[in-house]
Amino acid sequence: MATYSHSRISTFEQCKLKFKYKYIDKIETDIKQTVEAFLGNLVHRTLQKLYSDLKFQKLNSKDDLIQLFNDLWKKEWSDEILIVREGLTQDNFIKMGEKFISDYYEHYKPFDEMKILGLETTDMMTLSDDSKYHVRIDKLGCVGTTYFIADYKTNSTMKDQAEADSDRQLAMYSIWVKNKYSDVSKVVLKWHMLAFDKEVTSERTDEELKKLQDETVVKIKVIETCADFSPKVSALCDWCEFKQLCPKWKHLYELEEKKPEQFREDDGVKLADEYAHLRTEEGEIKEKIEALKDKIFAFADFKGVDRVFGTDQKVTIWRKECDKFPKTTDYNYQAFVEMIKKLGLWNEFSRIDTFKLEKSFESKEFHGEIQEILSRFAKKEKIKRIYMGKK
Ligand code: SF4
Repeated sequence: MATYSHSRISTFEQCKLKFKYKYIDKIETDIKQTVEAFLGNLVHRTLQKLYSDLKFQKLNSKDDLIQLFNDLWKKEWSDEILIVREGLTQDNFIKMGEKFISDYYEHYKPFDEMKILGLETTDMMTLSDDSKYHVRIDKLGCVGTTYFIADYKTNSTMKDQAEADSDRQLAMYSIWVKNKYSDVSKVVLKWHMLAFDKEVTSERTDEELKKLQDETVVKIKVIETCADFSPKVSALCDWCEFKQLCPKWKHLYELEEKKPEQFREDDGVKLADEYAHLRTEEGEIKEKIEALKDKIFAFADFKGVDRVFGTDQKVTIWRKECDKFPKTTDYNYQAFVEMIKKLGLWNEFSRIDTFKLEKSFESKEFHGEIQEILSRFAKKEKIKRIYMGKK
């Protein structure tokens, strides 16, 4: 069984194909990392240096730390690092890093808010299904029997309380802390939101932690048994190092390499343009047909006829007063269903919503026996559809 971590599970939740590229196929790409990840890494290492030197009674000055951050940046920067946000350069990110370090330094000096027990931990814990889970705590400390699991965040969006209270990453680490230290009376999860010079904290009960561990074990099982690694497009694709390989974006990348005349001659561009053109025409024709139908009805009513004759074709008007029963959206639909059941008509006139059932089955919403029984009736079929949308 593979070892798991918060980022491994999060990648699977974000996009199964990205997970496959990264953890199963282990593909190396030219894009080593994004500038945000690079910045985050250097800020973490700078703050780690601050606390690890303090263990030896050495207090670095703010300028020393900013200098260290800049030296690391110069030494490790590479042009393969991806800057996604338009109009920004590495200088913007260097200034951000300097400000994060400077604000943190001023806020927490002389850095005695807790006794430090661990920095950038690399421990492993065993979950209830025997799988191994990485424990990567940026700063672990305590004040008496209260333990703190602190995480440095360089995100440009502020974490709110609801997000902190539902966070999996630090909460999972608190299971490890509670098992490791026998005197723990309380574990506080703390996020240093460096871009805002603010902290967000949260706590979990033992019941919540048990539930979280159970859910994580189920998630790991889903990952281990996954057979369909479909891509999931989202705003995060712009930060995905596999975008050039991904079937959702590969053609666009190929086009970006082409000159304008080559772009126009690309078979894919021609096909997509023709399809879009025909679908637009189709929409316009449908609108015209509806308007024409109204005119034909009006003509037939005025003339008192049921057939209108053209040169080669005739148009027949069908009129009938029909009985309509409640639809699913009508207020009396449930009462109607109950009545149909009572009348013994349900088996003959009801239909299974196979579309909804297939979706729930596919996303494994049914557990255990139900999923297994349904799988005996499910048959794999390849389906192809085309959707249109703006680039
Ligand atoms: S580009 Fe988007 S859809 Fe493609 S693998 Fe990456 S995250 Fe998934």
